[in-house]
Amino acid sequence: MNNKTIPYGKQTITDADIEAMVTVLKSDFLTQGPTIAEFETKFAEYVGAKYAVALSNGTAALHLCAMALNVTENSKVITTPITFAASANCVRYCGGEVYFADIDPDTFLLDIHKVRALLEKHPKGYFQGIIPVDFAGNTVDLEAFRKLADEFGCWIIEDACHAPGGYFIDSKNIQQKCGNGNFADLAIFSFHPVKHIATGEGGMITTNNKELYDKLMLLRTHGITKDANKFKNKISEVEQGGWYYEMQELGYNYRLTDFQAALGISQLTRANENLQRRKTLAKQYDNAFANSPIITPISFEGNAYHLYVIQVENRLGLYEHLRKNNIFAQVHYVPTHLMPYYQQFGHKKGDFPHAENYYSKCLSIPMYHSLSDEEQAYVVDCILKF
Ligand SMILES: *Cc1c(COP(=O)(O)O)cnc(C)c1O
Repeated sequence: MNNKTIPYGKQTITDADIEAMVTVLKSDFLTQGPTIAEFETKFAEYVGAKYAVALSNGTAALHLCAMALNVTENSKVITTPITFAASANCVRYCGGEVYFADIDPDTFLLDIHKVRALLEKHPKGYFQGIIPVDFAGNTVDLEAFRKLADEFGCWIIEDACHAPGGYFIDSKNIQQKCGNGNFADLAIFSFHPVKHIATGEGGMITTNNKELYDKLMLLRTHGITKDANKFKNKISEVEQGGWYYEMQELGYNYRLTDFQAALGISQLTRANENLQRRKTLAKQYDNAFANSPIITPISFEGNAYHLYVIQVENRLGLYEHLRKNNIFAQVHYVPTHLMPYYQQFGHKKGDFPHAENYYSKCLSIPMYHSLSDEEQAYVVDCILKF
């Protein structure tokens, strides 16, 4: 066991995955083919949303969300400092200003009370949007965020990269699946290899808003449409051929390929069983660390268990001890407000004490569905011995 490295997260590719990809590789469409729409339909169904837009990665998904919601130089948007930088960067791509609010020290999620306090410090209309993150797999209470957002005229982009298949329980005791579009305007997912569903690179936006959906579809391919019902130019008779297209917005090429979509569809068929496996692993970690000084993470019902984050006093020591034993733990995340890029806008150390305190102790230990009981026991043993 000692010479095999155990990362904090990784993909599993089965023979069925490979076959599904090969089938598409042998078909007529490598991109812009029917497999994309099939993946979108199945993914939308999985999360319980009306519409889904497949994209080249999660960051592209965030960028298009910000564009579709009209983020400009004048826009001010609130997000959490404990997330991957992309959650904030999408606002900057459109020239907007990023504000952070601190996390809840127990759940590590964006603290809604801190968001409210920030919103109340400014006149209504000052902020345009909120980007909460379903951190580590716990889905934020989007019902509460929706209420708050409506009060202040804000939109919501749910960064759901950590929680496909996750849900929260709403005030009527109903399970609300992460990304189902009932509360957030838009939700985004990533299919990077460390995420639940892996397509290499890949992303998805889900929504129940038809208008936003149409806009996203346009922006995904250069802002170009071939739909005759949507043309804006007066088209002369000689131009009314099937070749005609119009570029109506400054869009991008953020498309996913069809063979990646095939991989995504194949992976999606195992999503539920993989989620169960992650849940089992989390329970086993919880039990193993129950009588130790290690602080284990809080888990709500509906947790999708993307990460298993422990908190320890000597984090560096443990991190290096694990590396020596071929266990590659990771820190999620270096707070975004402390990135040199964000510090130039005036964010600084001390701004968000809970986020910074969490960052000083957190360590993500191996959590992925193919982690075996034997490997997990080895990880636990290495940690407890330290
Ligand atoms: C992975 C991730 C992203 C970015 O996704 P990419 O597909 O790598 O671009 C954004 N936000 C969060 C929270 C993530 O975990």
